Amino acid sequence: MLEQKANCVSCRQDFVPKIQSEWATKGVRRHYFACPHCGVQYTSRYVSRAIQSRQMKIRIRRKKIKNLAKGDIENIERLSAEIEKLAAENKKEMQELRGLLEGVS
Ligand SMILES: [Zn+2]
Repeated sequence: MLEQKANCVSCRQDFVPKIQSEWATKGVRRHYFACPHCGVQYTSRYVSRAIQSRQMKIRIRRKKIKNLAKGDIENIERLSAEIEKLAAENKKEMQELRGLLEGVS
């Protein structure tokens, strides 16, 4: 796998992001990476317990789909729709958390 490089907007140097996490507030972890050249931090996302639980549900459904027969369209479609819904809920909550914690929307 190719290493995905990021370009720092502050010092304009390339680096390979190494994701770290810390508690942003009660029950919410901030995932971020820092530029090794100048130390500027970039938040990749905020993850609450509800988001984690949905991520788990998504993983379980992906596994189920893998184990289903290719012809089992009905179940594949049902699980895919559930994954889509969970992912959309996560996206929405992540945006809300970012707005709440960073004061932007
Ligand atoms: Zn930098």
